Amino acid sequence: MSIQNIVLHVADVSKRFGGLHALTDVDLQVAEGEVHAIIGPNGAGKSTLLNVCIGRIRPDHGHVIFDGETLDRHEPHEINQLGVSRVFQTPEIFSDLSLLDNVMIPAFARRDGAFRFNAIRAVAGEGDIREAAEYHLQDVGLFERRLDEAGSLSRGDKRRLELAMCLIQKPKLLLLDEPTAGMSRHDTNMTIELLKRIKARGMTKVIIEHDMHVVFSLADRISVLAQGKVIAGGSPEEVRGNPRVREAYLGE
Ligand code: ADP
Ligand code: MG
Repeated sequence: MSIQNIVLHVADVSKRFGGLHALTDVDLQVAEGEVHAIIGPNGAGKSTLLNVCIGRIRPDHGHVIFDGETLDRHEPHEINQLGVSRVFQTPEIFSDLSLLDNVMIPAFARRDGAFRFNAIRAVAGEGDIREAAEYHLQDVGLFERRLDEAGSLSRGDKRRLELAMCLIQKPKLLLLDEPTAGMSRHDTNMTIELLKRIKARGMTKVIIEHDMHVVFSLADRISVLAQGKVIAGGSPEEVRGNPRVREAYLGE
């Protein structure tokens, strides 16, 4: 681990909601290029952890260090500009805009550091960003529908659209919160293939996932959360064979 470049270090993070200990002394490191899966039962604190990483939730204790920079005082949009993109558990898209516009907006946000979409489009034109948006829609299999309203997509397609919205930002770190939740097996398999292609490009990813088929298809390393604590971590083989994990999570 020490010779690898650590992109993300969640350092002793704790977070309480009233009396509830959502995260307790969570410490994990994600190396450059790795796909790091976070698994654990419902309510384990996985989404809270992701929200801490993107600045939506401030930890009570501990720090998040991204690319050598401590993120304690950074706003979510600043963290995004530093190179962190995320796919939420519930897709956050612009339902009454076209797929193309949805994918172009985050490109402007990353490039120009502000949400000035209409102003920039009016003044500067949109040539290269439109091409990039079309490329990424092709990448996720939605190019044919590029002019449709995003609100008309199925749930699985909305998740893929959101992924294209992340990829166009060329993030250093991509965080995915249950990217296959609610998808059919067919859509899940398409998403696994897509995520494998992205993995081949070397993008560092943290993926929260319920579906063990997805986790074991993609992850280089796994951290297991239960009741807000990391109870195990390691390679997929190590985690699969860990009795504590089987008991706490796999229900065996
Ligand atoms: P997971 O994603 O692993 O299912 P969460 O991180 O969403 O778990 O939630 C961890 C715990 O924290 C749960 O018990 C949840 O009810 C609680 N929780 C999450 N967000 C809030 C919040 N904003 N206010 C109060 N409790 C919360
Ligand atoms: Mg969650």
